[in-house]
Amino acid sequence: MENEHEGQIPEARVPPKKRSGRNRAIFIDRDGTINVEMPTYLYQLEDFAFLPGSVEAIAKLSKTDYKLIIITNQGGVAKGIYTEEDVNKINHHIVSELKKHGAEIHRVYYCPHHKDGTVEGYSFICECKKPGTKFFEEAAHEFKLNLKKSWMVGDRDFDIMAGARAGCRTVLVKSGINGEEYYRNMTVEPDFVAPDLKMAVEIILEHEKPGGAANGANQGVDGDGC
Ligand SMILES: [Mg+2]
Ligand SMILES: [Zn+2]
Repeated sequence: MENEHEGQIPEARVPPKKRSGRNRAIFIDRDGTINVEMPTYLYQLEDFAFLPGSVEAIAKLSKTDYKLIIITNQGGVAKGIYTEEDVNKINHHIVSELKKHGAEIHRVYYCPHHKDGTVEGYSFICECKKPGTKFFEEAAHEFKLNLKKSWMVGDRDFDIMAGARAGCRTVLVKSGINGEEYYRNMTVEPDFVAPDLKMAVEIILEHEKPGGAANGANQGVDGDGC
């Protein structure tokens, strides 16, 4: 059942009778976007660290009407490197730490699958692993989202591909472990490029303002596009 792969974060504020497609969300990648990416796999709390400014950025988003949803690929489960319990431990840590700062994450989705995995039950080509859009669709259904008014922020090409395929606007952040070269060689075109989540949030919030930079594309705040 797919729900096993959700972070069991309670959602108490969805108005029950809201019409479909009226809400919007910001989908946020986890590793390299919210927290420091490990050279290997992150699954131990002692290795966890928020990226500078990310907690404050998410707290700032929490003051808006956007649903805040984390979507993360965790193929290390399929590879037998760590377990779903490890994934949940990190996810819950993120959610509870953010909560201390007044930031509410409405849902965490993770994909534990990998086509080259070794663990039975996880090792296949799935539809939830980004650039797959299954979780975007699940969230859209659950939260009555208009994906066209929603955003995806992430540090990898598959984050941007997933967001774009789901119909969201996209912001690439360069806070992952990949070097400049990775971003230079990327073939996907995000709508915006930002050095980190903090600046990505500034870009998104700029769109709230009347006459904000709503129509621009590839207007990286660091000026070099992608
Ligand atoms: Mg990432
Ligand atoms: Zn999956």
